[in-house]
Amino acid sequence: MKVAVFSTKSYDRMFLEAANAGYGHELIFFEPHLNRETSILAAGFPAVCAFVNDQLDATVLTALARQGTRLIALRCAGFNNVDLAAARDLGLKVVRVPAYSPHAVAEHTVALILSLNRKIHRAYARVREGNFALDGLLGFDLYRKTVGIIGTGKIGTVVANIMKGFGCHLLGYDPYPNSECKEVGVRYVSLAQLFVESDIITLHCPLTPETHHLIDTKALNQMKSGVVLINTSRGAVIDTQAVINASKSGKVGCLGLDVYEEEAGLFFKDLSNLVIQDDVFARLLTFPNVIITGHQAFFTREALENIAETTLANITDCEQGRACPNEVTIIR
Ligand code: NAD
Repeated sequence: MKVAVFSTKSYDRMFLEAANAGYGHELIFFEPHLNRETSILAAGFPAVCAFVNDQLDATVLTALARQGTRLIALRCAGFNNVDLAAARDLGLKVVRVPAYSPHAVAEHTVALILSLNRKIHRAYARVREGNFALDGLLGFDLYRKTVGIIGTGKIGTVVANIMKGFGCHLLGYDPYPNSECKEVGVRYVSLAQLFVESDIITLHCPLTPETHHLIDTKALNQMKSGVVLINTSRGAVIDTQAVINASKSGKVGCLGLDVYEEEAGLFFKDLSNLVIQDDVFARLLTFPNVIITGHQAFFTREALENIAETTLANITDCEQGRACPNEVTIIR
């Protein structure tokens, strides 16, 4: 099938081309994000392959459908950037990669927890400057601390398993508790109880209308003073301004973000020669106890191989009229 691949980086191309040897699709790579201005590039392509920050709202989907596109193949798990109702009404099939490596994201989550707690980012810079003082680098033992996991699906479950290894107590909040987490020792509690009892809170729920700004001022006020807050799910699960205020007051002791609610204009690009115009993001960068990575939690070799393989298999299923197990539908 002829596929317009948007938001392509060199690594996307490398892994997709390698996997495509077994599929034979015609992949045309476009560097720009998919949005209202660039949707014209997909004219005549029956399939469009998109990523996390591509814009798949009703306007873009209407343009794509008018130009002959019938399939949206997301090469990511989250689909919060797709207007599914519009896709359905336009007859556009949407497929995704539901699990490519929960380990990649879970391990990055733990990397953020460990780096923030033991101030590795600061120690690295200090030692290179010949500063071997330890003031300001004090951490705490993870052993016997309480980790609250919001969203105990595939990634949350791996996080639970890893943190269990550190000897942590595990709390979980999820509308659909899972038995594997219970076996690992996750105790399911209300959101309020998780906020109150956790030393570390890590977010692994999808971005939905229910989880939008789940972490707001009210939620932050319930948390322990000095809580470690980690978000590798989707940026808008956190109200960024609220978390900035909570970091200024000391309520949030450490903040680790791999995602940011306005990341679309920033992440996956080299902006190092430019002045960052987003003042909220710029403020976040000033905190010594904040680590931000640019949506790289998924970025392992194994994950990219799986993403490429599943994306192309999804496209083949649709091309050959087979039911695709990774189709995204809305229940109405
Ligand atoms: P998953 O579907 O396996 O698990 C999500 C869990 O969240 C489910 O158990 C679901 O019941 C739960 N959930 C739904 N609504 C909730 C709510 N209101 N409160 C608490 N829990 C709720 O998904 P996953 O593979 O574990 O991925 C989780 C999220 O991680 C994805 O939605 C995606 O946004 C994000 N993600 C980020 C990266 C990255 O690189 N940073 C990569 C992959 C996925």
